[in-house]
Amino acid sequence: MNTEEQELAELDLEAQRPDLDRNLELEVFDAVRGRSDHPVTPVRLQAEDSFHFRCHPGVSCWNVCCHGADITLTPYDILRLSRHLGLRPAEFLERHTVPAIFDKTELPVAKLKMGGADGKGPCPFMADSGCTVYDDRPATCRYYPLGLVSMKMKDADAKEDFHFLVKEPHCQGHREAKGQTVAEYRFEQGVEPYERVNRGWVDILMKMASWNTLGGPGGKAPTPQTKKMFFMATTDVDAFRRFVFETRFLELYEIDAEAVEFLKTDDEALLQLGFDWMKTVLFNEPTLALKEHVLQDAIARARGTLAGDR
Ligand code: SF4
Ligand code: SF4
Repeated sequence: MNTEEQELAELDLEAQRPDLDRNLELEVFDAVRGRSDHPVTPVRLQAEDSFHFRCHPGVSCWNVCCHGADITLTPYDILRLSRHLGLRPAEFLERHTVPAIFDKTELPVAKLKMGGADGKGPCPFMADSGCTVYDDRPATCRYYPLGLVSMKMKDADAKEDFHFLVKEPHCQGHREAKGQTVAEYRFEQGVEPYERVNRGWVDILMKMASWNTLGGPGGKAPTPQTKKMFFMATTDVDAFRRFVFETRFLELYEIDAEAVEFLKTDDEALLQLGFDWMKTVLFNEPTLALKEHVLQDAIARARGTLAGDR
């Protein structure tokens, strides 16, 4: 049985469990970069709320927060930084990241590797003058000092995001006179494309966090193979493209010919396919349609298993 067939065999064909629809909050970006031992005070903010903050080379803490920073890289961060550095994602991951597990989810992610044996040294992209990858800096660095929480209320159809402000003691930017609303800061920092491209990834993390207390999708923990596939599809577009075009993937799923052509060269489109695929594999969501004969085979196999269990 090859990889995709294993994944398909693990799909839970039963209806989704009704007891999962409860309130959930997931901190996507925690806004704490300094690893300070001092307590920080998060303040919840809406788009129209304002706060005082400005970061510039004249502050006494210039570059302090770019040491020992705890930065989970989103799929789009990896694409943008790889392009900026003229690297393919696999090489970028090898040189500049360390593997980690995203809090509450059991799913693997990549964190930016800080300098120093203890990981508390400078970010590899930090220079005296500031961030050398500024135009393509990670989402976490764009939000700072804001954090982002994604929240789904019980019985609500849609998720809601809100920000919170974290005042770390070393950050002098909060003493600056410049004021702005959260919406203005978000625009200035260019977070919109990051949120748009990463939305499917955040959805998966949220859902996995909510299911985690039950042991994973359908009550089963994701297999090591599923976690490996998640990491590949969300961090390395080249590896995922090879997987799509050099295995039976396109024989299993309905993807129209025009989209297939697009996927050959468009990295962002491939990321979206990866998110859709993982939603199908992890949660049995109908984000990718199986071809009719594959679906019929899967149903027949499931029925055979159920009959054998009686
Ligand atoms: S990517 Fe840039 S802003 Fe972010 S920690 Fe590194 S140097 Fe600082
Ligand atoms: S003001 Fe805050 S964000 Fe700017 S360099 Fe200082 S610690 Fe970092």
